[in-house]
Amino acid sequence: MKITEIIAGKTTLSFEVFPPKQTSNYENVYNAAMGVAKLKPHYMSVTYGAGGSTRANTLQIAKDIQDKYDTSVVAHLTCVGTTVEETCNALDAMKEAGIRNILALRGDKPKDFEGEPFKDFHYASELVEQIRKHSGDYFCIGGACYPEGHPDAVNKSADIDNLKRKIDAGCEFLTTQMFFDNNIFYNFLYKIKDKGINVPVIPGIMPITRAGQVANAIKMSGTNMPERFRNLVDKFGSNPEAMQQAGVIYATDQIIDLIANGVEHIHVYSMNKPEVAKGIMDNLSQIIG
Ligand code: FAD
Repeated sequence: MKITEIIAGKTTLSFEVFPPKQTSNYENVYNAAMGVAKLKPHYMSVTYGAGGSTRANTLQIAKDIQDKYDTSVVAHLTCVGTTVEETCNALDAMKEAGIRNILALRGDKPKDFEGEPFKDFHYASELVEQIRKHSGDYFCIGGACYPEGHPDAVNKSADIDNLKRKIDAGCEFLTTQMFFDNNIFYNFLYKIKDKGINVPVIPGIMPITRAGQVANAIKMSGTNMPERFRNLVDKFGSNPEAMQQAGVIYATDQIIDLIANGVEHIHVYSMNKPEVAKGIMDNLSQIIG
């Protein structure tokens, strides 16, 4: 089912999982992803290794989640380092696997990648155009957005102008980069509405359940953590069980505030941790049906 149909007229909770990079740890990562799928959120998303490093695993996990748990999936797809022909082949394989939703991304040059990173595509908007050209309306296409601005953007306003190109190319919903202060998201919503972006914008919430995740989260979201969150990491960071509990509660609190302020769809970066996904789902059991 298409995401636009799944989310229409209701409050939804979805989870993201990632595929294994090497075949050696396939089983552990696979089982963890399926542990999240067992919770049967409204839909799931499966990430993709930029440059195609996880192509087969992304597709397999996405297909299995749909087939075994009857849960619709958004398969991520990146275009960095990719040709039009490779992309069309990937689209055909997705269609054959029964995937109806794609998160169309530029991706970043992988660390070990040599040569020219951009072949036929420079931006995600070009990937969206190519998906429409090759597959018509078969796929529901989503894109990424950045409430605190994408790190490569000249400024936030130019970033939103570029985001509008992605929408104009055929992108039907957006999922945000993680953020830890909801006011940043509310401000972003005002700014994009002003520029004529009216598609559903689904906030991506990352439960920080290990102190070690903090540095990476700051790098990705481009923000300093709110003081309230930093205090929590200072206090509980050295006690894994307490940190996990506090991280789940902080994320839940963020989600409740979003819903109380009229946000209808929540995407959780559950990082292949069924216990974290379940903790959040349980905390919201009377709030999201
Ligand atoms: P784009 O939309 O192309 O934007 C990239 C930059 O180019 C921005 O600064 C934008 O302002 C600028 N830009 C866009 N169009 C133009 C234009 N026409 N002219 C000039 N500048 C322009 N990465 C993965 O490898 N795999 C994943 O599965 C994955 N999933 C993600 C999921 C979400 C929800 C998010 C938020 C990110 C994800 N990423 C993933 C990371 C993402 O690939 C990187 O953040 C990447 O740097 C940008 O991808 P994009 O699709 O947002 O790029």
